[in-house]
Amino acid sequence: MKRLEFHISYICNHNCIFCSEYDRLQKYRTSPLTILQIKTILVDRRKQWFNHVNFTWWEPTIISWFLELLKFTKKLWYKIYVWTNWTMFAWENFAKEALKYIDELSLSIHWYDEETVKKQTWLKNHFDIYKNYISKNIIKYKTNNNFFFSNIVLNKYNYQNIMEIIKFIKSTYIDVKQILISNIAPEWLADHTFSELVFDLYEFKKYIPEIVNYCNENSLTLRFFWLPTCILWELYYDYSNDEHWEERHTIERFTTKDWKIVLKDIYSPDNSRKRTFVEMCNDCKWKTNPCTWIFRKYLEYYKF
Ligand code: SF4
Repeated sequence: MKRLEFHISYICNHNCIFCSEYDRLQKYRTSPLTILQIKTILVDRRKQWFNHVNFTWWEPTIISWFLELLKFTKKLWYKIYVWTNWTMFAWENFAKEALKYIDELSLSIHWYDEETVKKQTWLKNHFDIYKNYISKNIIKYKTNNNFFFSNIVLNKYNYQNIMEIIKFIKSTYIDVKQILISNIAPEWLADHTFSELVFDLYEFKKYIPEIVNYCNENSLTLRFFWLPTCILWELYYDYSNDEHWEERHTIERFTTKDWKIVLKDIYSPDNSRKRTFVEMCNDCKWKTNPCTWIFRKYLEYYKF
């Protein structure tokens, strides 16, 4: 499987406190990609044997021609993955049509009630919309070909409620099969607000056995992302997403030295960006595999 990460959108209707893309959205929101550009690249990459595409980067579903793009992409026999905040699934016709073409959907949920939605996204009505429209439409129109993931970004305001969040996801009957729990990453907006959002990973470590047990009992595949393997305890190192990382080809907006805004191909063979090992890593059996260590910026706030 050759996978393409395609950053097709530079607009978003949410306002998440941990957004790793905020600055980039501000920078490129007035340089949107056209559907013709995207179609041309998809045809070209298909000839290079790419057969899996992830449409993302924030928020792909609110682009007016998104459904047309899904249909076109499916005709090229791509497996389609969409990473979304689910906004457009509140509309019944959109949900009905989109779920015919999408193979994998990553549902971002970092909250479990009205208050926590507001804290994480600054949206007043999203919890009601989610319960009364989004989840109902998805349950009504999901097909046997849809595979649902859920992505939870941890930060100071929600890591202690991780079990409530996972149980809430399970309670919506969307039939999520895999939960990805991501540590806050010091990128873009979250790089500026990192001091506000960072939390002690050794505090979080205490919750891991309960998370693993609950996910196993409920047939949920579990992955931890951007967490040092030793935080997962000896017993659970295999739940590290680093173990399952695959090389990536990303297409995204980029500004050249002479200030031209272009599309650029980026190849990422690993995910060790902005991370470092520390003294105790020297004798660690996971140092080269699967661990990709700790964020350098984390060490400015907590010991590791
Ligand atoms: S390499 Fe370092 S950060 Fe990674 S698991 Fe070992 S001790 Fe922890």
